[in-house]
Amino acid sequence: MENFVNVRNERETLDVLIVGAGPAGFLAAMSAAGFSSENSRKILILEKMPTPGRKLLIAGSGRCNLTHAGNIQDFFSRYGQKEKERFLKPALLNFTNLDLLQLLQKNGLPCVQLNDGKLFPKSERSRDVLELFLRLCAEFHVRIQCGEAVVSAEKSDDGSFLVRTETGKTFRTRNLIVSVGGKSFPATGSTGDGERFAKQFGHTLVPLRPALAPVTVSGYSFASCAGISFPDLSISLWRDGRKIAQRTGDVLLTHRGLSGPGILDFSREFQRGDILRLAFAPGLTDAQFTEMLQQNPQREIGNLIRTAFGISGRFVSAVLEQIGMSDSLKCWQISKKMRKMLLTFLTEFPFEIQSVGSFREAMVTAGGIALSEIDRQTMESRKVPGLFFAGEVLDVDGDTGGFNLQFAFSSGVLAGKNAVR
Ligand SMILES: Cc1cc2nc3c(=O)[nH]c(=O)nc-3n(C[C@H](O)[C@H](O)[C@H](O)COP(=O)(O)OP(=O)(O)OC[C@H]3O[C@@H](n4cnc5c(N)ncnc54)[C@H](O)[C@@H]3O)c2cc1C
Repeated sequence: MENFVNVRNERETLDVLIVGAGPAGFLAAMSAAGFSSENSRKILILEKMPTPGRKLLIAGSGRCNLTHAGNIQDFFSRYGQKEKERFLKPALLNFTNLDLLQLLQKNGLPCVQLNDGKLFPKSERSRDVLELFLRLCAEFHVRIQCGEAVVSAEKSDDGSFLVRTETGKTFRTRNLIVSVGGKSFPATGSTGDGERFAKQFGHTLVPLRPALAPVTVSGYSFASCAGISFPDLSISLWRDGRKIAQRTGDVLLTHRGLSGPGILDFSREFQRGDILRLAFAPGLTDAQFTEMLQQNPQREIGNLIRTAFGISGRFVSAVLEQIGMSDSLKCWQISKKMRKMLLTFLTEFPFEIQSVGSFREAMVTAGGIALSEIDRQTMESRKVPGLFFAGEVLDVDGDTGGFNLQFAFSSGVLAGKNAVR
């Protein structure tokens, strides 16, 4: 990874300056270069960290879940609110999951589909993705300067941008692409610098919040069950006594609460004090459960629940202990009160949200540069010509499964292409 070229001449006017060497920044740069080694445009990426792509390296636990399989049309609904779909379409259609795979495979990085439609590099190494991006940037004559945190950017009278870094350097560029990421996992360099650019250029910043985050649960008493997961649970979200949303997904018990894709993807809607109800036996009625107990009078209740509903034995024992019921109680011994408690456990087990994970734990950031101020066909600011935004700095956050990287790549490609049109 030694292709960080020192900028020789700070006084030259660049065609495109990109702030942030993450997935969005890399693709923006390559796209501005026309994905071509014939590129003669002056393109520079400034990265504040000593090395680039730090978040990319930890993506998918170092395996890099690049994108998702399937039709790109099915991606549109994977970014939360319905209103965002319109904004996302041009970028995703312009550079799809297939386009990404083609780019990687053509350049010697084959990909594989693993569980649930997630696509990874065949080597399952994020580092290989980063190294490929660096090699392509070098081939396309994109310069990368690390250890240069951009601290200010302004438009000068001649229409170009003056960009200043913490080390005191100044760069002049015709077009500026801001791809500084969000605020989660700040040790990777993504520290919410989008706010600075929003202020400097008069853009609205939708307040930043952690998303794809685990939750801690009030009075949680399942620390001993940490690591147990439940596939495809029905999860409902309750606020002020009303059910406000429902989803299905895998849930993982942690030392302090809940995680797993079903919780992470849902977490953008959570607030402190909300109740999450998990249904291990969705739709089970009191009559059905009563009949089940009556048909198995001599079975031990713990054993019946474990086998009939496929719930981990350790968790069943922990729940029974909490409601003061012995695992070995025979079904005929279950009173009406006990039956009601068990039915609640099976159909709507409640967990009160104490907190939604902080930026240190959240995989992505919700909020960012307001989409209404960005031209969705080009990623250009509607306020400042020549200024573009790409990636997580925008008010876009996707589900787990490769949707965030795909948006970073797609929005980067669109911004880069339009910055040199
Ligand atoms: C643990 C973890 C695992 C993840 N796994 C996946 C996954 O498997 N699949 C998936 O789709 N998504 C995953 N994500 C999310 C995904 O990594 C991000 O959505 C994606 O990296 C966003 O790309 P970006 O280029 O917009 O921002 P970033 O990757 O955050 O890059 C922004 C870059 O800008 C630099 N920068 C910031 N401010 C400045 C400044 N002032 N001057 C210069 N440089 C600056 C930063 O140092 C950083 O290098 C994961 C996230 C985390 C935290």
